[in-house]
Amino acid sequence: MFTAFLIKYGEIGIKGKNRYMFEDALVQQIKYALKKCEGEFSIRKTQGRIYVDAQTEFDYDETVERLTQVFGISGICPVVYVEDEGFEKLCETVVQYMKDVYGDCDKTFKVFARRARKNYPLESQEICMEMGGAILNAFPEMKVDVHNPEIKLNIEIREKIYIYSEEIPGAMGMPVGTGGKAMLLLSGGIDSPVAGYMVAKRGVKIDAVYFHAPPYTSERAKEKVVDLARIVSKYTGPIYLHVINFTDIQLYIYENCPHDELTIIMRRYMMRIAEQIAQETECLGLITGESIGQVASQTMQSLAVTNEVCELPVYRPLIAFDKEDIVTLSKKIGTYETSILPFEDCCTIFVAKHPVTKPNLGIIKKHELCLSEKIDELVQTALDTKELIIATEN
Ligand code: ATP
Ligand code: MG
Repeated sequence: MFTAFLIKYGEIGIKGKNRYMFEDALVQQIKYALKKCEGEFSIRKTQGRIYVDAQTEFDYDETVERLTQVFGISGICPVVYVEDEGFEKLCETVVQYMKDVYGDCDKTFKVFARRARKNYPLESQEICMEMGGAILNAFPEMKVDVHNPEIKLNIEIREKIYIYSEEIPGAMGMPVGTGGKAMLLLSGGIDSPVAGYMVAKRGVKIDAVYFHAPPYTSERAKEKVVDLARIVSKYTGPIYLHVINFTDIQLYIYENCPHDELTIIMRRYMMRIAEQIAQETECLGLITGESIGQVASQTMQSLAVTNEVCELPVYRPLIAFDKEDIVTLSKKIGTYETSILPFEDCCTIFVAKHPVTKPNLGIIKKHELCLSEKIDELVQTALDTKELIIATEN
């Protein structure tokens, strides 16, 4: 029965000049989200509202699911359009709408009328009164509640007449693209896809970098990361995934530095390389899935030493999350099942039995000097040979 959706968005942060940017980005993201849906849609912006109109038959559940994945939407209202065939006919149609949506119910309601077309013979207040009366006649069990109604029945008089009463909660957040761009360090684990999702929810476009270490990490491990990027791209739009061959750098560190410091030194090089790509691609920050105390390289001391190499801000949205909460979120966004597939991560190959948990920056820097002969060249080669994969939905 529904032929359109009214898209509601929060008003915060979209006042004045930003409004157009916000709305255009939202329209863009809605288009992207609906591209894979059955049916054709047109999206229009009118008078501070966005409507998604179905042009053909469509799958209601699939469409709603897609719309609930778009950041920046606060509510999705399924709308019925009817032709203006006089007020009496409209009352009949609305009574039928109430029957179809709620059955013979005993809920409280309130009518909200908006007369966008000023030549309509009744004023908003009259529409509310008359329509309320017609509903009470048809449903003796229902009551009007003007303060806290269970059903908010909206009637909007435009070229056609719009009827809606349901509001499906949206994803909230801000439309991707309104908040600049950041570089996500994406591994095949549980945490980093969730971290990317969270920052994207605030309107930030995401690029990603993955450090691949063949033959220590398999092609399948890389595919898994691409799959994760694809899942996250459902929410964020296409993700430019830079794959860096990290093997020679890892081996060189392994040969020249104390093994208990391997992870921390390796992480410093990951951050340095990620930052370099970030700067070349106009990213305004880095994102990682780190959380205090989760592993040796994520103690406060280790995070400080890792962070020291970066000039760009490093966003760590999971920093104070328990693993359990991260797992819950990853299940919600659909990355969990892929993240737990058993393909080795480049960090697990070279890990020491007893990695330092309280690294000292001075000592780490001193040991990094042992790499000075070849490391710049290796980093440059890694950058020169990087592979770019554009991850979108299949
Ligand atoms: P995740 O579940 O995201 O893999 P983790 O708990 O396994 O995290 P680490 O392996 O210590 O933690 O990695 C910390 C963060 O460093 C990750 O969240 C990710 O942002 C980044 N990272 C780790 N390994 C890689 C990699 N191979 N490529 C890109 N980024 C990585
Ligand atoms: Mg990991």
